[in-house]
Amino acid sequence: MKIDGIKKALHQVDKIRYRPNLVAKIGRGYFRALVLRKPCLRDCEFSITPDCQSKCSFCYASKFYKKEEELLSLDEIESTWIQAKEMGAFCANLLGGEPLLHPHFIDIIEILEPKKHLITFATNSILLTEDIIKELKRLGVFLIMISLNSLNPELNDKMRGYKGHYDHVMNAIELCIKYNIDISLPVATSKPYLKETYEIVEYAKQINASVVVNLMCAMGRTEGELDLLFDEAFWKDYRKLVDSNSHLRADFDTNLNLRIGCPAGFEKIHVTPYGEVTGCSMNPVSFGNVREKPLAEIVDKMRNFYHFAKRSPHCLVAIDRKYINDYMNYASNYESIPYRVEENDCYERDKYSFCK
Ligand code: SF4
Repeated sequence: MKIDGIKKALHQVDKIRYRPNLVAKIGRGYFRALVLRKPCLRDCEFSITPDCQSKCSFCYASKFYKKEEELLSLDEIESTWIQAKEMGAFCANLLGGEPLLHPHFIDIIEILEPKKHLITFATNSILLTEDIIKELKRLGVFLIMISLNSLNPELNDKMRGYKGHYDHVMNAIELCIKYNIDISLPVATSKPYLKETYEIVEYAKQINASVVVNLMCAMGRTEGELDLLFDEAFWKDYRKLVDSNSHLRADFDTNLNLRIGCPAGFEKIHVTPYGEVTGCSMNPVSFGNVREKPLAEIVDKMRNFYHFAKRSPHCLVAIDRKYINDYMNYASNYESIPYRVEENDCYERDKYSFCK
C-alpha cells in the first residue's frame, strides 16, 4: 500500500463529504475490498457517441463507429448503470467522441444521478456553454474533464485537428472557475510531446486543477505506431512524477484495495456507444454486449481473464508489451473496434489462468 494512494483517497473523501449517500457507497466499496477482500466495481465509463468535431492525431476512438448499429438508448444506458451500481459502482464518466454531441447528453447525466454519485465527463469544450455549465452544476456535477494537449495554442490546435480549440478550452476553464466547478485536464501524451505534458502539469497547479495523463496507446489513429509507445523504464520516472504531485491522478492508484494496479475488469469497466464492454476506453477487446447478456456475467468473464486478473502494475494498453503484442495489435484486423475476445486465439490460453 502506498502513502500516495491513501493521500489521494483522502482528497476524494474531502471533496464529497457533504454527500452522505455517496460517502456511504464509497465506504461500502472500501469495506468490500479491504475487509471482505472481494472485488468491487467502482467506475463505469460510457462512451456515448463516436461523433466528434476534432480530428486528434492520437484519437483512440476513431474506430468506434459501427455503421449499421444504433447507439445505446436512454433505457439501455439506465439499465446498464443500474446493474453497475448493483456491483458497487459509484463513479461514471461520459466519454466519446465528444459527449456533448449526443442529442440527449443532459438526459444521460440525469439518469446517472450526479447528486448521489461521482459523475463527470471528458469534453473538448467546443460546445461547452455557460448555460450548460449552470445546468450541470444544478444537477450536481462538480468536476468537468477538459481535454488539453499543449499550452502553445497553435500546437494544441494542430494536435486536436481543430482551429480555435485552445481558445474554447481557456473559455471553459474560466467558466468552471466562475461557477466553482472542479477542473481536471486529461492529457493524451506520447514521447514527442512529454515537454508539453509536463508544462500542463505545472499549469494545472496554478489554476488548482487536477491532471490525468493518458499515455499513448497504439489504437485508432495511432494503430501500429509502436515506436511511439513508452516503456517500463519511462513508467518508473512517470510514477515518480505521479507520486510527487497529488494533483496528478491516475486510475491505477485510486483503487479501493489501495494497491497500485490496472483496475480494468475489476474496479473499472467501459461501455462503448453500442453496448460492448471493455476494460477501459483505450482497450479494443470486448467481453460481451449489454444488449445480449447481464452485465454481471460479462464482468465475471473479465475477472477470469489472465491479463485483468494479474492486476498489472503498469498501464496494460500503454506499457505491457505482451498484452500489446497479443491483443492491441490484433485490432488492426478490424475496421471497427472493439472486437470480441473469443476471436483472438490468445484468449484460449489466457482465460481462467490466474497462476501464470
Ligand atoms: S489499461 Fe491503462 S488506462 Fe486502461 S484501465 Fe488499465 S491502467 Fe487504466
